[in-house]
Amino acid sequence: MAIFPIRTFGDPVLRVRTKPVKDFDAPLHRLAEDMLETMYDAPGVGLAAPQIGVSKRICVFDAGEGPQVLVNPVLVETSGDWEYQEGCLSVPGHYWNIIRPAFARAVGQDLDGNPVEFAGDELLGRVLQHEIDHLEGHLLLTRLDRATRKEAFRTLRNEAFRAPE
Ligand code: ZN
Repeated sequence: MAIFPIRTFGDPVLRVRTKPVKDFDAPLHRLAEDMLETMYDAPGVGLAAPQIGVSKRICVFDAGEGPQVLVNPVLVETSGDWEYQEGCLSVPGHYWNIIRPAFARAVGQDLDGNPVEFAGDELLGRVLQHEIDHLEGHLLLTRLDRATRKEAFRTLRNEAFRAPE
């Protein structure tokens, strides 16, 4: 297992739609272990492969019920509305109140290619939507209203400019 540096806002890998996983092999299992270790170390409640620079359709999360892995997920059902102060390991130190559906159901595969399904509301529903967004190349910033997003981009660009590297 290994902890990977987490890619942050501005890294192009975060904006690319990921490729479906086709090989359910040992390297995939290792990738999932590394992602979980990186997520817990951060710490965070979810992590998508692009966040460690791997453009594959896999994410991991722990919304309070232990470590979970979801390969090739697709959001199949959402309902309701829930406002939550949402953050992202790739946009460290920032949180925004974002309204999204309260409930989400996602289907996908486990590490051996077997079909799995996750469904839940509040935190689990939010994590599923957030991680699947990552796999489509979208950061939470895309969920902000226009004015808030503009302000957020300005702030983040200024931070990048001030970064020591
Ligand atoms: Zn995120």
